[in-house]
Amino acid sequence: MKRITQIAHEKLSGVIHLGDRVVDATVGNGHDALFLAQQVGARGEVAGFDIQTEALHATGLRLEDAECRGPVNLYELGHEKMGQVLSSWKGTVSAVVFNLGYLPGGDHNIITRSETTLPALDEALNLLKPDGVLSVMLYHGHPGGQEEMETVFSWSEQLVAGYKQELVEVEHPQAPKLLWIGKLNLTNTLH
Ligand code: SAM
Repeated sequence: MKRITQIAHEKLSGVIHLGDRVVDATVGNGHDALFLAQQVGARGEVAGFDIQTEALHATGLRLEDAECRGPVNLYELGHEKMGQVLSSWKGTVSAVVFNLGYLPGGDHNIITRSETTLPALDEALNLLKPDGVLSVMLYHGHPGGQEEMETVFSWSEQLVAGYKQELVEVEHPQAPKLLWIGKLNLTNTLH
């Protein structure tokens, strides 16, 4: 059975092209950041956020080892600040990727929290270009995870028209769930 993280990367590879702008909202150990850097290539741009120095360090090393550091800017900031930091990117981003929860191998008490996750998701939608996607990996096995997941689902249910949503689940009950939100290109339907 495919891992859900692999499914997310396969879906992302269908929407991210060389030279694109993308955001990794939670760089953690850098697996997603490396994947994104490889997708956009040397002429693309990746902005990565995390609140832990340890995570940014691990991500920087992973990117350097793979010789993919070039297109990536890392910010030691909460993802709720992405709209401020990337104000010139509004409406130009192909994908914003969230991988919620705690840093694997790090302090399990430092987790993403709804108070900052929801504002960050709003900021992410503002950055997306038409046809851009928001990919949110939701973990529910750790304390606070289930509550955060439910809050994110309520947030997504209240989104106004203009987005196409999908929830991807694999059979394993402990596995995280992938919320996939596509921003519709409404200019295609206007006459
Ligand atoms: N995407 C990562 C990877 O590929 O290795 C895994 C991310 S890990 C599951 C979640 C990360 O979110 C942790 O490193 C944690 O420090 C970070 N985090 C927690 N609150 C945050 C916030 N407000 N803004 C940005 N990152 C945050």
